[in-house]
Amino acid sequence: MSTNEYTPIIGLEIHVEMRTNSKMFCGCPAEHFGAEPNSHTCPVCLGLPGALPVANGEAIKRTVKIGLALGCSIAEESKFDRKNYFYPDLPKGYQISQYDQPLCYEGLVHTDSGDVRITRVHLEEDTAKLQHVTLTPDQMKAANVEHADVSLLDFNRSGVPLVEIVTEPDIKTGAQAREFGKLLVQTLRYLGVSDCDMEKGSLRLEANISVQSEEEKAAGKLPNYKVEVKNLNSFRFLERAIDFEIERHTAMRRAGETPTQETRGWNDDRSVTFSQRSKEEAEDYRYFPDPDLPPLYLSQELVTEIGESLPELPQAAYIRLQSGYGLSAQNAEVFTAEREVLLAGEQLLQAAQKSELEPQTVANDVVNKKVETWILDAERVSSAPPEEVAAEVKKVLQTIAKARQTESIPAEEVHAIMDEIASTADGKDAIEKYRSGKVQVIGFLMGQLMRKLQKKVDAGEVKQVLENYLQND
Ligand SMILES: [Zn+2]
Repeated sequence: MSTNEYTPIIGLEIHVEMRTNSKMFCGCPAEHFGAEPNSHTCPVCLGLPGALPVANGEAIKRTVKIGLALGCSIAEESKFDRKNYFYPDLPKGYQISQYDQPLCYEGLVHTDSGDVRITRVHLEEDTAKLQHVTLTPDQMKAANVEHADVSLLDFNRSGVPLVEIVTEPDIKTGAQAREFGKLLVQTLRYLGVSDCDMEKGSLRLEANISVQSEEEKAAGKLPNYKVEVKNLNSFRFLERAIDFEIERHTAMRRAGETPTQETRGWNDDRSVTFSQRSKEEAEDYRYFPDPDLPPLYLSQELVTEIGESLPELPQAAYIRLQSGYGLSAQNAEVFTAEREVLLAGEQLLQAAQKSELEPQTVANDVVNKKVETWILDAERVSSAPPEEVAAEVKKVLQTIAKARQTESIPAEEVHAIMDEIASTADGKDAIEKYRSGKVQVIGFLMGQLMRKLQKKVDAGEVKQVLENYLQND
């Protein structure tokens, strides 16, 4: 199968729920996971008439943080718009979002298989949550409903700050999409803006996929269709769904057909995508500026201040650990997996540098579990007080240093050195004395041997190897 005949054109849309204290436009707690349904609500997030929204400043700052970390420009002026559509989880009949003036735009992210441009990063509010359940006869009676199958609404999620990150269609493979997604999550976690927990729905992935013919490519045109794959709740599913779609589209286009413009889902059991709804025409959301919210003006000073507050980002740390401590790429990856791990891990590397141990060998022992420690366990290090981390660092180094001292010396190495010693007049003499029964000369031979070994080794062990040499040779 020819692979160059059609070029995959893939863009991602990623929604990230932010863990701010309060919701986007009201004072209700933003935490909704596991809370009693409809316990975090007020007239604003229930969409009651006359209730007025007030924008959450912390959510705006966090969005700017994300934009800066993704290399975006930050809009000096932006605004909130109403996106109008009807759905039971949207009580106002519109979602407050950003249309033509997003907070952040034109960013860039480097992946191993090429750059991915960021179109925009904007801020909006999440919807309520629908739950489809079957009631027991008792529950039906209590709720005074005639049908057992009902849909319940929980407004705890309504109005939670949601950031949407949109990429240009620069991605070419499922693997690249996966790499980009993982890097994005790692970055967002470093920034501390979201837990990005896909199981809790804090991170939602969508991919827009089409394949471009040689002619379209030559003419600089994008294909006249695209398929959206939604509700992908893991990076593995994202990768597999994209690769499946690339093959499906290529086969169809080769046969002279155009894939239907539609939304599809991923069935992992069958390893296929399936049609959810066709999307022949673009939806008309009748966007207009929200009259209840003033435009947003961000001063250059504030943007600079936010920029200066950014932590070192994972890609930079990954490079620095290799150049600064001589870590292998693989170990640097482990040490930078999470920001908490990097902070604790670097304490270990610095302490190793100050001791006689080499940081890269210490890193190696820790990564390869030659020493038992929780220093790279993100959950453990983030909950441990600083003095506990410091004590753990000390313990790890002591364990490794001790292991080094009793490092076993290969018998061949001892034998080679003994052959050398035996070739000198003093050495030859001592060995002959030993073999004739004057075993106390072993002290002299040990001294010679240890000087030549130049390593911290267990003397008892070396003596044993030496005795074997003297008795057998
Ligand atoms: Zn509220």
